[in-house]
Amino acid sequence: MGWGMENDGKMSLRLFIGGMRGSRPATGGAFEIFGGDTTSLLVVGSGGERLVLDAGTGMCAVARELVRTEHGEATVLFSHYHLDHLAGLMMNPLFYAPEWTFHFVGPTFADGGVRQAITRLLAPPYWPVPWERMRARLEFSEFAEEGIRTGNLCVRGCSMPHPGGCMAYRIEDGDSGASLVFATDFEWPNRSKEQEATFMTMCREPKAADAIVMDAHFIRADAHRFAGWGHNCWEDCLDIAESAGIPCVILGHHAPDADDEALFAREQQVKKRMPRAALARAGQWLTISGQGT
Ligand SMILES: [Zn+2]
Ligand SMILES: [Zn+2]
Repeated sequence: MGWGMENDGKMSLRLFIGGMRGSRPATGGAFEIFGGDTTSLLVVGSGGERLVLDAGTGMCAVARELVRTEHGEATVLFSHYHLDHLAGLMMNPLFYAPEWTFHFVGPTFADGGVRQAITRLLAPPYWPVPWERMRARLEFSEFAEEGIRTGNLCVRGCSMPHPGGCMAYRIEDGDSGASLVFATDFEWPNRSKEQEATFMTMCREPKAADAIVMDAHFIRADAHRFAGWGHNCWEDCLDIAESAGIPCVILGHHAPDADDEALFAREQQVKKRMPRAALARAGQWLTISGQGT
C-alpha cells in the first residue's frame, strides 16, 4: 500500500511505523495523525524475520505487532543511543515475558556501545527493574563492520554526521530482493567527503534501494538556525533520494512541536516535488516490493 509500493503478491519487505517523532514525544489531539511517539520501526522480512529499528516510545506499538506473531524472537538494531531512540525500552512489556528473546545490536561510539547504553538505562536510578531481572532473554552484540544477517535479511551500515555519532542502515531481503535504507538523525551539510561517498554508495549499490526512511526534522529556511543540532531538512532528503534514484521516500523525525496541520502542509510541499514521497504516520504498515532486475 501507499506511494506505489504495491504488493503484487510477490514476497516483500514489510515496514511498520511504531513512531517517528523526533527528540521527544508529543501528546494531544493535534498529533493524532502523524503520531507523537519517538522513533521505532519494525521490519518484517519475507521469511518472517523481525528487525526492530531503534527503541523510541513507538516501541510499545511495535511490541503490540510483535505479539501477533508466533515465535518470540526479534533483533533490535540501534542507529545510536540518544534517549528519543531508547525511551521505549523501559516500557516494552515483552521484556517481562520469558518466551521472548531480544538480540540488541548497535554501533560503538567514543561514548560507548549497545550493552553499556542499555544496561545503564535499565537499572536504578533510571528504572526499577534491572535488565538482568527481566524475564525475556536479552543479548547484546556490536554491529559488525561487515554487517549483520538475520535469516535472509542482510544489513549493512555507514556512519552519518550527528553529534556523538549515528549509523544509517540498508536492509536487503534476500528472498524478495526488496531493500530499504533507514537514515535517521543526520545533518547532511555536516557530512565529510567519506561519509557522503559511503552513504550514497550504500543507497545506490548493488542497485538503488526501493525505499528510504530519512530524518526531515527541519525545513531548509530554518536549518541554518539549528546548525550543529544534528538534523536534516526535507529538501536535502529529496535531493539525496533523487541523486540515489530511490523512488519511495518516507520522511520522519518530525519536530515535536509540528502538529498534524503543519505536517500535512509540509507533506503537500514534499509531494509537489516528489509525488511518491510522504511523511511517516505512526501505526502505518507499508509493503516494499523489489523493483526486480
Ligand atoms: Zn533523534
Ligand atoms: Zn540523535
